[in-house]
Amino acid sequence: MKRQIEKFISFLEKDRFKVDATNENAFYSGTKRITYDGRQADEAVLFTLLHEYGHYKLRCAGKKYAKRYFSQKKADKDGRSKRSIAYKVDILREEYDAWRIGLEVAKELNLKINRQNYEKHSAICLKTYCGWVCDSGNYEY
Ligand SMILES: [Zn+2]
Repeated sequence: MKRQIEKFISFLEKDRFKVDATNENAFYSGTKRITYDGRQADEAVLFTLLHEYGHYKLRCAGKKYAKRYFSQKKADKDGRSKRSIAYKVDILREEYDAWRIGLEVAKELNLKINRQNYEKHSAICLKTYCGWVCDSGNYEY
């Protein structure tokens, strides 16, 4: 597993990404910085890096990104929209897409991953977002 992580980090660094172990899984939009929770198991680190890179690939799509995630772009201009159900579902949609793209990237780079574990890990992460969408109380439409 460590070999697969090294292979992917080296791919990212060749593309001028800065990859750091911190205590947070994140892609910093507008930059080429990805952090991951270094306390995770190695397999989760690899899955996280693939997912965060998925966010990067989605956001590089420019106008396509703005069209696909219309409610997010709207909320960038109008903060009130962040309370809308459409915005929250849009965030969930991007999360789902970033996991899907992460898997595609793993295939393209011939990274050895356990598909079943990847699906399970992504499902657990998506469940957290589903909870956030469903439990956030007063929706605005
Ligand atoms: Zn994400």
